[in-house]
Amino acid sequence: MGREAREKRILHNEKPLRIAMLSAHSCPVGRLGTRDTGGMSVYVLEMARELGRLGHRVDVYTRVHDPVDKLIYELGQNAHLIHLRAGENGEMHKLAVYPHLPDFVRRLEDYRRDNDLHYDLIYSHYWLSAWAGKRLQKWWRVPHMVMFHTLGAVKNAVGVGAKEPELRIKTEHSVINSCHRVIAATEKEKADLIRHYSAPAEKVSVVPCGVNLDIFRPIDKKEARSQLGLNGDKTVVFVGRIEPLKGIDRLMMAMTYLENGYRPRLLVIGGGENSRHEVERLRKLAEELRIEDTIDFLGLIKQPDLPLFYSAADVCVVPSYYESFGLVALESLACGTPVVTTMVGGAEDIIRHGETGYLVADNDPRSLADKITLALSRSDNNGHLASAMRTSLEPFGWPNIAEAIARECHALLVSGTEGTG
Ligand code: UDP
Repeated sequence: MGREAREKRILHNEKPLRIAMLSAHSCPVGRLGTRDTGGMSVYVLEMARELGRLGHRVDVYTRVHDPVDKLIYELGQNAHLIHLRAGENGEMHKLAVYPHLPDFVRRLEDYRRDNDLHYDLIYSHYWLSAWAGKRLQKWWRVPHMVMFHTLGAVKNAVGVGAKEPELRIKTEHSVINSCHRVIAATEKEKADLIRHYSAPAEKVSVVPCGVNLDIFRPIDKKEARSQLGLNGDKTVVFVGRIEPLKGIDRLMMAMTYLENGYRPRLLVIGGGENSRHEVERLRKLAEELRIEDTIDFLGLIKQPDLPLFYSAADVCVVPSYYESFGLVALESLACGTPVVTTMVGGAEDIIRHGETGYLVADNDPRSLADKITLALSRSDNNGHLASAMRTSLEPFGWPNIAEAIARECHALLVSGTEGTG
């Protein structure tokens, strides 16, 4: 169904919704690719805009991250971002946000009352906002829908990177009990919610994440390479936040198996000031592995510029230990570049193994290298492949995903708030 038809249906047959979206720790207009700003911020921004376009009213609440943040931003049609002053006005580690949540909730309620706003439901993102949403659902007596994006118990089971505190796991448990709907990005996440948190299956709906097919479009590979000043070398790209869970070190080890007369370039994109230590660790590793001449740490790249990098590359690699969904794989395919990925997040739903990319059981460097080699060997003649990739992604356009979320919201309003709280 086209966008116009969708808008008409929403506007004429279904009640436009008034949604309070909570994203306390991570700002949807923050710098993507920094330690705490990644896929979830993209999700919140795209979802708010798309629901707004469909005729719903969406207010996204986050805390002030930068003293120069305006109080209110217009995100798009019917969609606003409201910065609340809870805690210091600056970046803080996400765990440090927790003690400020009661203040965040009070300020949100004051803003709502002062502006005479009324919401039909709350849509919270990540366990911190879910804590805030739990309080607001009691005050407002409206349904509370939650998306966790990642789960503490699953991160701990993976066992890479810092251990998630008991506080997080306890909060996730209590929110799963008290909220009215949990959105999982994949069937795997739903299974994790049931296995690790005993979530009732009927409370969990699976709605995948999306990709902006207007931003992420293929650019002629030669043109992209010349714009980036890349020579004719085969090129592998990694895009994402720079943290141990992403498995970048495993990808770097994989690169050492790819000699065979030449070694492709590896472009590592992402990582701000607060990822400095991890970038330093990876640079040292590059020296130890003697690949420092063929690896470039490019730092943060703004999303509108990323299609140039995805298109210039022969393959994009997602070597993660854990992803709740993994937007990068979708973005690369949308630019016509195959993906080699571990079987994390939505990979198995997104990648057609052997056609649009390759799945590897885990991020064992040798297995990654085998599949990177295969992808590189097929990358010279990829015109047909690029269009097959985009076609395979049509269901993941944000308008479709937002419509599925709007349906979940309408269903929640029908079933009401009984039985929880
Ligand atoms: N990203 C970006 N610039 C960068 C690095 C990452 O815009 O320098 C974006 C990327 O386009 C993607 C998001 O950050 O949309 C990362 O999302 P993903 O779901 O892959 O990982 P997460 O952050 O959720 O772990």
